Amino acid sequence: DVRVRFPPSPTGNLHVGNVRSALFNWAFARHHGGTFVLRIEDTDAGRNLEESYTGLLESLGWLGLDWDEGPVKGGPHGPYIQSERSSIYAGVVAKLLAAGLVYRCFCTREEVEARQSAQPAGTPPGYDGFCRDLPAERVAELDAQGRASVVRMRVPDAPIVFDDLVRGPIHFAPEHVPDYVLVRGNGEPLYTLVNPVDDALMEITHVLRGEDLLPSTPRQIVLYEALAQVGVGSGRVPVFGHLPTVLGEGNRRLSKRDQGSGLAEYRDQGYLPEALLNYLALLGWAIAEDRDVFSLAEMVEAFDIGRVNANPARFDARKCEAINASHIRALPPAELERHLLPFLHAAGLVSEPPTPAQSQLLAAATPLVQERMNTLAEVVDMLGFLFRADADVVIDPAAGLKPDADATLAAAAEALEGLDSFDHASVEAALRAALVEGLGLKPKLAFGPVRIAITGRRISPPLFESIELLGRASALARIAKARS
Ligand code: GLU
Repeated sequence: DVRVRFPPSPTGNLHVGNVRSALFNWAFARHHGGTFVLRIEDTDAGRNLEESYTGLLESLGWLGLDWDEGPVKGGPHGPYIQSERSSIYAGVVAKLLAAGLVYRCFCTREEVEARQSAQPAGTPPGYDGFCRDLPAERVAELDAQGRASVVRMRVPDAPIVFDDLVRGPIHFAPEHVPDYVLVRGNGEPLYTLVNPVDDALMEITHVLRGEDLLPSTPRQIVLYEALAQVGVGSGRVPVFGHLPTVLGEGNRRLSKRDQGSGLAEYRDQGYLPEALLNYLALLGWAIAEDRDVFSLAEMVEAFDIGRVNANPARFDARKCEAINASHIRALPPAELERHLLPFLHAAGLVSEPPTPAQSQLLAAATPLVQERMNTLAEVVDMLGFLFRADADVVIDPAAGLKPDADATLAAAAEALEGLDSFDHASVEAALRAALVEGLGLKPKLAFGPVRIAITGRRISPPLFESIELLGRASALARIAKARS
């Protein structure tokens, strides 16, 4: 049975790199009919905020990455929030200490550093094992002196080898895996302890995560093996797959500070969750050589961790936007309307819920922009003019309505006033007759001022359709206002 996990730390806005890890785990679980576990790694008490936790659950909900076990859902291996598992960790550490697989270390940082600097050049960095075999009397003495102690892993002196699902066989020499700290002097368990302990107790079979965590993998494997010896967890070391680094600007690893790295930006700009996930899937995986656009269901069907590419993947914001545009185009119009409404509402253009007239207008206008939108938020600029009162349509000074446009606008108004039927074909025919034939203007010069008067902008959805949707009274009022 496949059991995978997504263990974010609740430290604010999710990073797209983390979302990619969540997606690959989720798709792997769904492909194999396995279990996707959500675990909150909040032992680093200083940075945790209730708000980040709530935001995290909301983000996953928005993305549609549903978990089978975890906060809210529960499950047989709970609690799934590490700050609620302190007594579990204390019990595990006691077992490991009793078995001699970990040990108490009383060295201060200064002592460790002083011994390190006295070492010949070329000695591998890291703890020298000073407290590995302290006699019990010495431990009692140090305790009596009230000296603080950390708990360290007793790393066996043997190479650590594993088969990475993405990168193949990986080998770490023992001198590069020093005895590392599992529990702080104040008793706080560290990530190095709680992450593998929970993976073991939650019976995780596959750990798929970013390549940046590869250096911690040999340490964790040693701990899994120790846990198996004291009967904690399933006794099996999970299989690892380290996903390629995501590069941002200048070939550097995409960091939290880079623009475009936070999930919230995508939600606010109007990315469809499926489109964003589609793009993130391409950071290391491909459904087929010649195909970029696919649905989540298609991804689940085809997902194969063995076909993830180990090479770094470049984050390309333009491509991400293009994929979003493709997904927007593929939506049934009614569904697109549903996605557009929150943006129109936030801009104060429609009420919540929309009035029947607003719904009708949106249904009629959506086909005019569906093929042109890259993000949902663009709807406010594209269709705002239809929902505003005539008096509120402000002509963008940059659109440049020249004084000589007045004759054009006068002729346009006259043509529209006299129309019997106000459908877009009639509007077009009348305006062509009046402006192109009547005034002898080139079409671009003829319709430009009309477009600016009606929409406030130089670029807009198709003009004649827009005029039809606005209706005669509004169209004439806007032309009159532009002339005044
Ligand atoms: N809480 C860790 C992180 O967010 C989890 C790393 C892992 O997947 O093991 O970086």
